[in-house]
Amino acid sequence: MSFVRSDYGNVARLNFTDGEPHAMQLTEEPQKRVFRPDFHCHTTASDGHLTPPELLQRAQDQGVTALAVTDHDTYAGYSSLVASGPVTGISLISGIELSCVWQGRTIHIVGLDFAAQSQVMLDAVARQQDNRWQRAQLIDERLVKAGLPSLLAAAETEAGGVPGRPHFASAMLAAGLVKKHHHAFDRYLGTGKIGDITSLWPSLETITQWIREGGGVAILAHPRKYGLTGVKLRALLTDFMGAGGQGMEVLSAGQADADTRFLTLLCEQFQCAASLGSDFHHPRNHWCELGRLPPLPTKLTPVWQLFSAATRQHMGLPA
Ligand SMILES: [Zn+2]
Ligand SMILES: [Zn+2]
Repeated sequence: MSFVRSDYGNVARLNFTDGEPHAMQLTEEPQKRVFRPDFHCHTTASDGHLTPPELLQRAQDQGVTALAVTDHDTYAGYSSLVASGPVTGISLISGIELSCVWQGRTIHIVGLDFAAQSQVMLDAVARQQDNRWQRAQLIDERLVKAGLPSLLAAAETEAGGVPGRPHFASAMLAAGLVKKHHHAFDRYLGTGKIGDITSLWPSLETITQWIREGGGVAILAHPRKYGLTGVKLRALLTDFMGAGGQGMEVLSAGQADADTRFLTLLCEQFQCAASLGSDFHHPRNHWCELGRLPPLPTKLTPVWQLFSAATRQHMGLPA
């Protein structure tokens, strides 16, 4: 197969002359469509700003052709979209972003294309939600010990359910305890700060196993966002791949070119699949839009090659 890219992210023409297409066959004349996947984004089911239908509409408006909603530790948003009836023009793929702990740090693993009805995934969500409640209480206790008022109720209201660190940050901002949202992370909630509770998350191995047993593909999310040195990131990837991990996000929104080059190199070296996702949370973040990512480097194996035959077919790829 060969294909011609016209400009940013475009697949202008597809010529299926051999084996494996890298893009969905959606380019029939006269209306050319672009293969535009986004396999990482959030809704109000976790800490995103848009409801699942609003997110889907925005994805459609942005020309996204394959979408995985990857809320933190839940796929209720995805399930509600599936339950609301068939969606046209866009392939919805099951997704989740699970938190785990590795060497004392919180690491995010994205699960894609798992069976949403599988018992192991239903149990995983139940356990993670339980962890999140316990964690929210611990964060609050720690912040109170640090001299802040209790923010649990405000954070819970902000979340409309179990609050995470961004909700505590919003509660701090609303109470005038910090001047900017990110100051809450810099002072209290970021990695290594008093409100960064990692101890309750399952291990990297456990999370990876859940996703694999649920029939999904396990992907290391946004590898450059953990502040790890190259050596540490290689150690993480070694452990992750050893635990059954299959891929990594090579492209995230707002990522520096040097990081993309480094992640491309790592992806090749570890012989893992390459995924891409905006990590969209809020429309106000103009640097982070759904589907607005360059194409994956052609030398890498795209993650959709690991999707089930049914999903690939649904995406317009040969089963
Ligand atoms: Zn994440
Ligand atoms: Zn995310």
